[in-house]
Amino acid sequence: MTPARVLLRPRRAKPLYSRHPWVYPAAIAEVEGEPQDGDEVDVHAHGGAFVARGLFNSKSRLRVRLYSWEPGQALDRSFFQARIEQAIRLRRDVLGLVGPGRACRLVFSEGDGLSGLTVDLYDRWLVLQFTSYALAQRREMLADILAESLQPRGIYLRTERGVGKLEGLELRDGLLRGEPPPGPVPIREPGPAGSPEVTFLVDLVEGQKTGFYLDQRDNRVAVARYAAGRRVLDAFCYSGGFGLTALHAGATSVVGVDTSEAAIALARRNALENGFSQVEYHRADVFEFLQEAARNRQRYGLIVLDPPKFARTRSAVEDALRGYRQLLSLSHLLLEPEGILVLCCCTGLITMEMLEDLSTQVGASARRTVQLLERRGQPPDHPVLISCPESAYLKCLIQRVL
Ligand code: SAH
Repeated sequence: MTPARVLLRPRRAKPLYSRHPWVYPAAIAEVEGEPQDGDEVDVHAHGGAFVARGLFNSKSRLRVRLYSWEPGQALDRSFFQARIEQAIRLRRDVLGLVGPGRACRLVFSEGDGLSGLTVDLYDRWLVLQFTSYALAQRREMLADILAESLQPRGIYLRTERGVGKLEGLELRDGLLRGEPPPGPVPIREPGPAGSPEVTFLVDLVEGQKTGFYLDQRDNRVAVARYAAGRRVLDAFCYSGGFGLTALHAGATSVVGVDTSEAAIALARRNALENGFSQVEYHRADVFEFLQEAARNRQRYGLIVLDPPKFARTRSAVEDALRGYRQLLSLSHLLLEPEGILVLCCCTGLITMEMLEDLSTQVGASARRTVQLLERRGQPPDHPVLISCPESAYLKCLIQRVL
Protein backbone atom coordinates (compact mmCIF):
# COMPACT_ATOMS: atom_id res chain seq x y z
CA MET A 1 0.00 0.00 0.00
CA THR A 2 1.44 3.37 -0.93
CA PRO A 3 1.24 5.80 1.93
CA ALA A 4 -0.50 9.17 1.77
CA ARG A 5 1.60 12.10 0.56
CA VAL A 6 2.43 15.25 2.46
CA LEU A 7 3.43 18.10 0.14
CA LEU A 8 5.67 20.80 1.51
CA ARG A 9 5.52 24.51 0.85
CA PRO A 10 8.24 26.04 -1.34
CA ARG A 11 11.67 26.24 0.33
CA ARG A 12 10.63 24.12 3.31
CA ALA A 13 12.40 20.90 2.34
CA LYS A 14 15.99 21.93 3.04
CA PRO A 15 16.28 21.06 6.75
CA LEU A 16 14.41 17.83 6.09
CA TYR A 17 16.76 16.84 3.27
CA SER A 18 19.52 17.48 5.83
CA ARG A 19 17.74 14.89 8.00
CA HIS A 20 16.08 17.05 10.56
CA PRO A 21 13.25 14.71 11.61
CA TRP A 22 10.37 17.10 12.40
CA VAL A 23 7.81 18.50 9.96
CA TYR A 24 5.82 21.39 11.42
CA PRO A 25 2.32 22.30 10.21
CA ALA A 26 3.61 25.60 8.81
CA ALA A 27 5.88 23.70 6.40
CA ILE A 28 3.00 21.73 4.90
CA ALA A 29 1.13 22.90 1.79
CA GLU A 30 -1.19 19.96 1.39
CA VAL A 31 -1.94 16.47 2.65
CA GLU A 32 -3.10 14.16 -0.16
CA GLY A 33 -5.26 11.26 0.94
CA GLU A 34 -6.60 10.84 4.44
CA PRO A 35 -3.88 9.52 6.70
CA GLN A 36 -5.06 8.54 10.17
CA ASP A 37 -3.01 9.54 13.19
CA GLY A 38 -0.08 7.13 13.42
CA ASP A 39 -0.11 6.22 9.71
CA GLU A 40 2.93 6.18 7.43
CA VAL A 41 3.21 9.13 5.02
CA ASP A 42 5.70 10.15 2.35
CA VAL A 43 6.88 13.73 2.50
CA HIS A 44 7.53 15.43 -0.84
CA ALA A 45 9.15 18.75 -1.67
CA HIS A 46 7.14 21.48 -3.40
CA GLY A 47 8.49 20.36 -6.79
CA GLY A 48 7.31 16.79 -6.10
CA ALA A 49 10.61 15.09 -5.19
CA PHE A 50 10.54 12.51 -2.42
CA VAL A 51 12.17 13.71 0.81
CA ALA A 52 11.51 11.14 3.51
CA ARG A 53 9.02 8.76 5.06
CA GLY A 54 7.49 9.40 8.44
CA LEU A 55 4.54 8.90 10.75
CA PHE A 56 1.63 11.32 10.79
CA ASN A 57 -0.17 12.88 13.76
CA SER A 58 -2.81 15.55 13.13
CA LYS A 59 -2.88 16.43 16.84
CA SER A 60 0.82 17.16 17.26
CA ARG A 61 2.89 20.24 16.48
CA LEU A 62 5.32 17.67 15.09
CA ARG A 63 2.82 16.84 12.34
CA VAL A 64 5.15 14.28 10.75
CA ARG A 65 8.13 12.65 12.44
CA LEU A 66 10.58 11.35 9.84
CA TYR A 67 12.28 7.96 10.14
CA SER A 68 13.64 7.00 6.73
CA TRP A 69 15.16 8.90 3.80
CA GLU A 70 15.11 5.79 1.55
CA PRO A 71 12.27 5.89 -1.00
CA GLY A 72 9.87 3.00 -0.48
CA GLN A 73 11.25 1.94 2.92
CA ALA A 74 8.34 0.51 4.90
CA LEU A 75 8.26 1.49 8.57
CA ASP A 76 7.46 -2.06 9.60
CA ARG A 77 8.64 -4.44 12.26
CA SER A 78 11.94 -5.26 10.57
CA PHE A 79 12.69 -1.55 10.13
CA PHE A 80 12.20 -0.83 13.84
CA GLN A 81 14.08 -3.97 14.79
CA ALA A 82 17.11 -2.82 12.78
CA ARG A 83 17.02 0.64 14.41
CA ILE A 84 16.72 -0.82 17.90
CA GLU A 85 19.54 -3.29 17.32
CA GLN A 86 21.74 -0.45 16.04
CA ALA A 87 21.01 1.46 19.25
CA ILE A 88 21.76 -1.58 21.40
CA ARG A 89 25.11 -2.15 19.64
CA LEU A 90 26.30 1.35 20.61
CA ARG A 91 25.57 0.84 24.32
CA ARG A 92 26.55 -2.83 24.56
CA ASP A 93 29.46 -3.26 22.15
CA VAL A 94 30.94 0.23 21.89
CA LEU A 95 30.27 1.84 25.27
CA GLY A 96 30.15 -1.30 27.43
CA LEU A 97 27.14 -0.05 29.37
CA VAL A 98 25.04 -3.23 29.25
CA GLY A 99 25.52 -5.90 31.92
CA PRO A 100 24.47 -7.00 35.39
CA GLY A 101 23.91 -3.99 37.67
CA ARG A 102 24.55 -1.50 34.87
CA ALA A 103 22.23 1.22 33.62
CA CYS A 104 22.05 3.28 30.46
CA ARG A 105 19.76 4.97 28.00
CA LEU A 106 19.38 2.26 25.40
CA VAL A 107 17.31 4.26 22.93
CA PHE A 108 17.43 8.06 22.83
CA SER A 109 14.60 9.23 20.56
CA GLU A 110 15.93 11.46 17.72
CA GLY A 111 19.51 10.58 18.66
CA ASP A 112 18.82 6.99 17.57
CA GLY A 113 16.54 7.71 14.64
CA LEU A 114 13.51 6.79 16.74
CA SER A 115 11.86 10.15 17.40
CA GLY A 116 9.40 9.76 20.27
CA LEU A 117 10.81 6.64 21.96
CA THR A 118 13.21 6.42 24.88
CA VAL A 119 14.23 3.16 26.50
CA ASP A 120 16.25 3.02 29.70
CA LEU A 121 17.94 -0.13 30.96
CA TYR A 122 18.36 -0.68 34.70
CA ASP A 123 20.08 -4.00 35.39
CA ARG A 124 17.54 -6.48 33.95
CA TRP A 125 14.61 -4.08 33.61
CA LEU A 126 13.64 -1.82 30.74
CA VAL A 127 11.61 1.35 31.09
CA LEU A 128 9.88 2.68 27.98
CA GLN A 129 8.72 6.25 27.50
CA PHE A 130 6.76 7.46 24.51
CA THR A 131 6.52 11.05 23.41
CA SER A 132 5.01 10.15 20.04
CA TYR A 133 1.49 8.92 19.48
CA ALA A 134 2.50 6.82 16.47
CA LEU A 135 5.22 4.91 18.29
CA ALA A 136 3.03 4.49 21.36
CA GLN A 137 0.48 2.87 19.04
CA ARG A 138 3.21 0.36 18.08
CA ARG A 139 4.20 -0.32 21.70
CA GLU A 140 3.40 -4.05 21.68
CA MET A 141 5.58 -4.58 18.62
CA LEU A 142 8.40 -2.49 20.09
CA ALA A 143 8.16 -4.35 23.41
CA ASP A 144 8.35 -7.67 21.52
CA ILE A 145 11.50 -6.55 19.70
CA LEU A 146 13.14 -5.40 22.93
CA ALA A 147 12.12 -8.56 24.78
CA GLU A 148 13.63 -10.74 22.05
CA SER A 149 16.85 -8.74 21.76
CA LEU A 150 17.62 -8.36 25.46
CA GLN A 151 15.53 -10.89 27.39
CA PRO A 152 14.84 -8.47 30.24
CA ARG A 153 13.07 -9.63 33.40
CA GLY A 154 10.44 -6.98 32.82
CA ILE A 155 9.47 -4.04 30.64
CA TYR A 156 7.76 -1.13 32.35
CA LEU A 157 5.91 1.75 30.70
CA ARG A 158 6.19 5.29 32.09
CA THR A 159 4.60 8.39 30.58
CA GLU A 160 5.79 11.92 31.13
CA ARG A 161 3.15 14.35 32.32
CA GLY A 162 2.07 16.81 29.63
CA VAL A 163 2.72 14.50 26.69
CA GLY A 164 -0.93 13.46 26.52
CA LYS A 165 -1.91 17.00 25.68
CA LEU A 166 0.85 17.50 23.09
CA GLU A 167 0.34 14.25 21.21
CA GLY A 168 -3.22 13.16 21.99
CA LEU A 169 -1.73 10.22 23.81
CA GLU A 170 -3.52 8.46 26.64
CA LEU A 171 -1.30 5.86 28.29
CA ARG A 172 -1.30 4.44 31.75
CA ASP A 173 1.94 3.54 33.50
CA GLY A 174 2.34 -0.18 34.03
CA LEU A 175 4.00 -3.43 33.19
CA LEU A 176 4.23 -4.33 29.46
CA ARG A 177 6.18 -7.60 29.71
CA GLY A 178 7.60 -9.96 32.32
CA GLU A 179 7.58 -9.23 36.03
CA PRO A 180 7.64 -5.97 37.98
CA PRO A 181 10.81 -5.12 39.90
CA PRO A 182 10.52 -6.39 43.50
CA GLY A 183 11.51 -2.92 44.78
CA PRO A 184 14.06 -0.25 43.95
CA VAL A 185 16.61 -1.69 41.50
CA PRO A 186 20.28 -1.30 42.55
CA ILE A 187 22.63 -0.07 39.84
CA ARG A 188 26.34 0.76 39.85
CA GLU A 189 27.62 3.94 38.25
CA PRO A 190 31.26 4.91 37.68
CA GLY A 191 33.37 7.22 39.81
CA PRO A 192 36.57 8.97 38.67
CA ALA A 193 39.57 6.74 37.92
CA GLY A 194 40.78 5.17 41.14
CA SER A 195 37.53 5.79 43.02
CA PRO A 196 34.99 3.08 43.79
CA GLU A 197 31.78 2.72 41.82
CA VAL A 198 28.68 4.31 43.30
CA THR A 199 25.56 2.30 44.10
CA PHE A 200 22.17 3.88 43.48
CA LEU A 201 18.73 2.47 44.17
CA VAL A 202 16.40 3.29 41.30
CA ASP A 203 12.65 3.41 41.75
CA LEU A 204 11.41 2.60 38.24
CA VAL A 205 7.77 2.77 39.21
CA GLU A 206 7.50 5.93 41.32
CA GLY A 207 10.81 7.75 40.72
CA GLN A 208 11.19 10.90 38.61
CA LYS A 209 11.44 10.37 34.83
CA THR A 210 12.27 6.67 34.49
CA GLY A 211 13.85 6.58 37.96
CA PHE A 212 17.29 8.10 37.52
CA TYR A 213 19.07 10.94 35.68
CA LEU A 214 21.30 8.81 33.48
CA ASP A 215 22.26 11.84 31.41
CA GLN A 216 24.43 13.23 34.22
CA ARG A 217 26.61 10.10 34.55
CA ASP A 218 29.78 11.50 32.98
CA ASN A 219 29.26 14.95 34.49
CA ARG A 220 29.10 13.43 37.99
CA VAL A 221 32.43 11.76 37.34
CA ALA A 222 33.94 14.97 35.93
CA VAL A 223 32.76 17.03 38.91
CA ALA A 224 33.98 14.42 41.41
CA ARG A 225 37.52 14.93 40.08
CA TYR A 226 37.49 18.37 41.76
CA ALA A 227 35.88 17.21 44.99
CA ALA A 228 38.74 15.92 47.13
CA GLY A 229 38.94 17.77 50.43
CA ARG A 230 35.93 19.98 49.68
CA ARG A 231 32.62 20.53 51.43
CA VAL A 232 29.99 19.92 48.75
CA LEU A 233 26.58 21.51 48.34
CA ASP A 234 24.47 19.32 46.03
CA ALA A 235 21.56 21.60 45.10
CA PHE A 236 18.62 19.88 43.35
CA CYS A 237 20.15 16.58 44.47
CA TYR A 238 17.31 14.12 43.61
CA SER A 239 18.58 10.70 44.75
CA GLY A 240 22.05 12.03 45.60
CA GLY A 241 23.89 11.57 42.28
CA PHE A 242 26.52 14.32 42.31
CA GLY A 243 27.16 14.36 46.06
CA LEU A 244 27.65 10.62 46.53
CA THR A 245 29.99 10.40 43.55
CA ALA A 246 31.97 13.30 45.04
CA LEU A 247 32.21 11.55 48.43
CA HIS A 248 33.70 8.44 46.82
CA ALA A 249 36.32 10.76 45.30
CA GLY A 250 37.28 12.29 48.65
CA ALA A 251 34.85 15.13 49.37
CA THR A 252 34.75 15.78 53.12
CA SER A 253 30.97 16.20 53.43
CA VAL A 254 27.82 16.69 51.41
CA VAL A 255 24.74 18.78 51.99
CA GLY A 256 21.94 17.85 49.57
CA VAL A 257 18.77 19.87 48.93
CA ASP A 258 15.60 18.91 47.06
CA THR A 259 11.92 19.78 47.39
CA SER A 260 10.78 16.22 46.85
CA GLU A 261 10.26 14.14 49.99
CA ALA A 262 10.64 10.91 47.98
CA ALA A 263 13.92 12.13 46.47
CA ILE A 264 15.34 13.00 49.90
CA ALA A 265 14.32 9.60 51.29
CA LEU A 266 16.03 7.85 48.39
CA ALA A 267 19.16 10.03 48.72
CA ARG A 268 19.42 9.07 52.41
CA ARG A 269 19.06 5.39 51.54
CA ASN A 270 21.67 5.74 48.80
CA ALA A 271 24.12 7.36 51.23
CA LEU A 272 23.70 4.36 53.55
CA GLU A 273 24.09 1.91 50.65
CA ASN A 274 27.46 3.51 49.93
CA GLY A 275 28.47 3.56 53.60
CA PHE A 276 28.52 7.36 54.03
CA SER A 277 27.52 9.19 57.18
CA GLN A 278 29.00 12.63 56.44
CA VAL A 279 25.82 13.63 54.55
CA GLU A 280 22.91 15.87 55.39
CA TYR A 281 19.80 15.98 53.22
CA HIS A 282 17.28 18.78 53.50
CA ARG A 283 13.84 18.91 52.03
CA ALA A 284 13.71 22.56 50.99
CA ASP A 285 13.38 24.96 48.12
CA VAL A 286 16.92 25.61 46.84
CA PHE A 287 16.36 29.36 46.42
CA GLU A 288 15.24 29.68 50.05
CA PHE A 289 17.93 27.32 51.29
CA LEU A 290 20.68 29.33 49.59
CA GLN A 291 19.36 32.59 51.03
CA GLU A 292 19.22 31.14 54.52
CA ALA A 293 22.71 29.63 54.17
CA ALA A 294 24.06 33.01 53.01
CA ARG A 295 22.49 34.72 56.03
CA ASN A 296 24.17 32.13 58.28
CA ARG A 297 27.50 32.65 56.50
CA GLN A 298 27.80 29.01 55.42
CA ARG A 299 30.72 28.23 53.10
CA TYR A 300 31.24 25.43 50.58
CA GLY A 301 34.20 24.40 48.46
CA LEU A 302 32.09 22.93 45.64
CA ILE A 303 28.52 23.78 44.68
CA VAL A 304 26.45 21.88 42.11
CA LEU A 305 23.36 23.53 40.65
CA ASP A 306 21.29 21.02 38.68
CA PRO A 307 17.77 22.45 38.47
CA PRO A 308 14.89 20.94 36.49
CA LYS A 309 13.83 22.35 33.14
CA PHE A 310 12.87 25.96 33.91
CA ALA A 311 11.50 26.85 30.45
CA ARG A 312 9.36 24.83 28.05
CA THR A 313 8.48 27.69 25.73
CA ARG A 314 10.40 30.60 24.24
CA SER A 315 8.38 33.10 26.27
CA ALA A 316 9.53 31.39 29.49
CA VAL A 317 13.25 31.76 28.72
CA GLU A 318 13.48 35.25 30.26
CA ASP A 319 12.08 33.99 33.58
CA ALA A 320 14.29 30.92 33.47
CA LEU A 321 17.39 33.08 33.04
CA ARG A 322 16.30 35.19 36.01
CA GLY A 323 16.15 31.97 38.03
CA TYR A 324 19.64 31.00 36.91
CA ARG A 325 20.95 34.48 37.72
CA GLN A 326 19.59 34.22 41.24
CA LEU A 327 21.06 30.74 41.76
CA LEU A 328 24.47 31.90 40.56
CA SER A 329 24.48 35.11 42.63
CA LEU A 330 23.58 33.27 45.81
CA SER A 331 26.17 30.57 45.10
CA HIS A 332 28.89 33.21 44.81
CA LEU A 333 28.08 34.29 48.36
CA LEU A 334 28.50 30.73 49.62
CA LEU A 335 31.50 29.63 47.61
CA GLU A 336 34.95 29.73 49.21
CA PRO A 337 37.74 31.56 47.33
CA GLU A 338 39.01 29.25 44.57
CA GLY A 339 35.85 27.17 44.92
CA ILE A 340 34.27 25.06 42.19
CA LEU A 341 30.87 26.03 40.83
CA VAL A 342 28.98 23.60 38.60
CA LEU A 343 26.09 24.93 36.57
CA CYS A 344 23.86 22.43 34.77
CA CYS A 345 20.99 23.16 32.42
CA CYS A 346 18.68 20.71 30.69
CA THR A 347 16.56 23.39 29.01
CA GLY A 348 17.13 23.08 25.28
CA LEU A 349 16.08 26.70 24.69
CA ILE A 350 18.88 28.01 26.94
CA THR A 351 22.22 27.77 25.14
CA MET A 352 25.75 27.35 26.42
CA GLU A 353 26.43 30.89 25.23
CA MET A 354 23.56 32.28 27.30
CA LEU A 355 24.87 30.50 30.41
CA GLU A 356 28.37 31.83 29.82
CA ASP A 357 27.09 35.40 29.37
CA LEU A 358 25.13 35.08 32.57
CA SER A 359 28.15 33.68 34.41
CA THR A 360 30.24 36.63 33.19
CA GLN A 361 27.69 39.15 34.43
CA VAL A 362 27.15 37.51 37.79
CA GLY A 363 30.90 37.10 38.37
CA ALA A 364 31.47 40.79 37.65
CA SER A 365 28.70 41.94 40.00
CA ALA A 366 30.07 39.67 42.73
CA ARG A 367 33.53 41.17 42.07
CA ARG A 368 34.96 37.73 41.48
CA THR A 369 36.91 36.23 38.59
CA VAL A 370 35.40 33.17 36.96
CA GLN A 371 37.56 30.59 35.19
CA LEU A 372 35.72 28.20 32.89
CA LEU A 373 37.37 24.80 33.38
CA GLU A 374 35.06 22.55 31.37
CA ARG A 375 32.17 22.93 28.96
CA ARG A 376 30.30 19.67 28.99
CA GLY A 377 27.20 18.11 27.48
CA GLN A 378 25.45 14.76 27.54
CA PRO A 379 27.07 11.30 27.58
CA PRO A 380 27.33 9.12 24.46
CA ASP A 381 24.36 6.93 25.39
CA HIS A 382 22.38 10.15 24.73
CA PRO A 383 23.79 10.70 21.23
CA VAL A 384 23.15 14.02 19.54
CA LEU A 385 21.61 13.75 16.08
CA ILE A 386 23.83 16.28 14.37
CA SER A 387 21.06 17.43 12.04
CA CYS A 388 18.75 18.07 15.01
CA PRO A 389 20.31 20.65 17.34
CA GLU A 390 17.34 20.18 19.69
CA SER A 391 18.71 16.74 20.60
CA ALA A 392 21.72 18.43 22.27
CA TYR A 393 19.91 19.60 25.37
CA LEU A 394 22.23 19.14 28.35
CA LYS A 395 24.84 21.72 29.35
CA CYS A 396 27.24 21.54 32.28
CA LEU A 397 29.78 24.27 33.02
CA ILE A 398 32.48 23.59 35.57
CA GLN A 399 33.87 26.88 36.83
CA ARG A 400 36.49 27.92 39.35
CA VAL A 401 35.62 31.11 41.13
CA LEU A 402 38.55 33.13 42.53
N1 SAH B 1 21.13 16.25 40.37
C1 SAH B 1 20.18 15.16 40.25
C2 SAH B 1 19.06 15.44 39.27
C3 SAH B 1 18.29 16.71 39.54
S1 SAH B 1 16.75 16.79 38.75
C4 SAH B 1 20.93 13.88 39.91
O1 SAH B 1 22.14 13.91 39.69
O2 SAH B 1 20.29 12.82 39.87
C5 SAH B 1 16.06 18.21 39.47
C6 SAH B 1 15.59 18.03 40.91
O3 SAH B 1 15.20 19.31 41.41
C7 SAH B 1 14.39 17.14 41.12
O4 SAH B 1 14.73 16.12 42.02
C8 SAH B 1 13.29 18.05 41.74
O5 SAH B 1 12.56 17.40 42.78
C9 SAH B 1 14.11 19.16 42.33
N2 SAH B 1 13.52 20.49 42.43
C10 SAH B 1 12.75 21.15 41.54
N3 SAH B 1 12.53 22.42 41.95
C11 SAH B 1 13.19 22.57 43.12
C12 SAH B 1 13.39 23.67 44.02
N4 SAH B 1 12.85 24.86 43.77
N5 SAH B 1 14.15 23.47 45.11
C13 SAH B 1 14.71 22.25 45.36
N6 SAH B 1 14.57 21.19 44.53
C14 SAH B 1 13.82 21.34 43.43
